[in-house]
Amino acid sequence: ISLAEAFTASLNWGKAELLPVIAQDSGGQVLMTGFADREAVAESFKRGNLCFRSRSRNTLWMKGESSGNTLRLLRLRTDCDRDALLAEVEPAGPVCHTGAWSCFETGRQYTWEFLQSIITERFRNPAPGSYTATLDDELVREKVMEEADEVCTAATHDEVVWEAADLLYFLTVLMVREGVSVREVLDELDRRHKK
Ligand code: AMP
Ligand code: ZN
Ligand code: ZN
Ligand code: ZN
Repeated sequence: ISLAEAFTASLNWGKAELLPVIAQDSGGQVLMTGFADREAVAESFKRGNLCFRSRSRNTLWMKGESSGNTLRLLRLRTDCDRDALLAEVEPAGPVCHTGAWSCFETGRQYTWEFLQSIITERFRNPAPGSYTATLDDELVREKVMEEADEVCTAATHDEVVWEAADLLYFLTVLMVREGVSVREVLDELDRRHKK
């Protein structure tokens, strides 16, 4: 029996055999909710993308199967009494069927993960005139050094905010080019914090 099967078997399915699933990004922003039965949980593990049981259509449904806005599954956790699921996901695009980034937000909450997703998209699909797309390995390193220097010499509170935003942007471009995710950096900080 696999780890995925053991996890599924450990849940408190109750009579309805249907558990609520909350999907959030790795920055903690809640994106959507749905329901999962055992099959939806199994499919989520199998495909690596979050799947639900549609209560209205009574079908198994992979989020994004028609829109392309899939939710890549990073982690699946359960709550204290094992009757609800929390899925940490990386969204491929806007999550709500209305086109909103999250089902619970009218605007997009700016997170480090969101910045990463924009940068990733710029390299995957370079728009004409995209500055990000022009940043090669050498240029991005020069910019990180330059902006780190500007943070250090910033004279006012507002200048620190401005230069820190510059630095975070170029640092994230460097990370994306190196294939390092925001999640990995946060996990490393988390490991150090727990030591
Ligand atoms: P999608 O899974 O994004 O390809 O969308 C397929 C269908 O699923 C849509 O037409 C909606 O009926 C439904 N749907 C998509 N996203 C959501 C969501 N965030 N919450 C509820 N229903 C959704
Ligand atoms: Zn519970
Ligand atoms: Zn929605
Ligand atoms: Zn600057």
